[in-house]
Amino acid sequence: MLDVQHLNVKYGAFTALTDINLQVQQGEIVVLLGANGAGKSTLFRTLSGLQRPASGTATWNGTPLTGGKPEFNVAHGVAQCPEGRLLFPELSVEKNLRLGAYVRRKDRAGIEDSLGHVYQLFPAMLQKKNAPAGSLSGGQQQMVAIGRALMAKPQLLLLDEPSLGLAPLVVEQVFEVLRQINREGVSVLLAEQNAFAALGIAHRGYVLESGKVTLQGSQQELMNDDRVRSAYLGV
Ligand code: ATP
Repeated sequence: MLDVQHLNVKYGAFTALTDINLQVQQGEIVVLLGANGAGKSTLFRTLSGLQRPASGTATWNGTPLTGGKPEFNVAHGVAQCPEGRLLFPELSVEKNLRLGAYVRRKDRAGIEDSLGHVYQLFPAMLQKKNAPAGSLSGGQQQMVAIGRALMAKPQLLLLDEPSLGLAPLVVEQVFEVLRQINREGVSVLLAEQNAFAALGIAHRGYVLESGKVTLQGSQQELMNDDRVRSAYLGV
């Protein structure tokens, strides 16, 4: 499981995350709700080894994630699909996908298997495999970004705002794919502002406000919570 204990992250004198305690059990989809600037990306960057915490711990099945070596975290089962997708727009779809398998570069047969699996999940990618990634629609680019993360064969997938800028129908498709990935055994931590869609697929969730966890609960508890309903569900 992902176990975050008393995590504090600072940018110079500014404290971006304060005493974060959070868990994702094997097989869970956990949503992290929070407005712009709440600290979601900072948490993901920390869990990916891109940002060192000031104090506290984060482990995946007992392995520390805070050593500052992103490739170590990926090799130990934790892959991130970053906010804004960060694809290489001039490279083909397939080259973008293959880059996700960089830490497994010696596992040639395994990489071909994973590529086949990603094309199975996203049949449209197979048709566009030679097209520059930047020529695809926003939704398709998001699928490529998710596919690239899957090429690392993660046990835990960190997804930062996958629904950002996508039409509601496309959001539904993306979230259905996440459900499918989760059914195949991948645990998911999902940062979202689109609380409605995210709570629809999550088992549990946390609300992050100004760098602090202010609320946590099951899907039902959060959906029924007045604060979540007014701040994030618009009801
Ligand atoms: P968004 O959805 O807008 O990315 P977020 O919840 O992911 O929001 P973060 O990007 O983690 O939030 O930012 C948390 C806080 O840390 C914000 O106040 C932001 O201004 C600040 N911050 C983020 N990166 C840096 C940095 N490199 N240096 C200084 N402050 C930063």
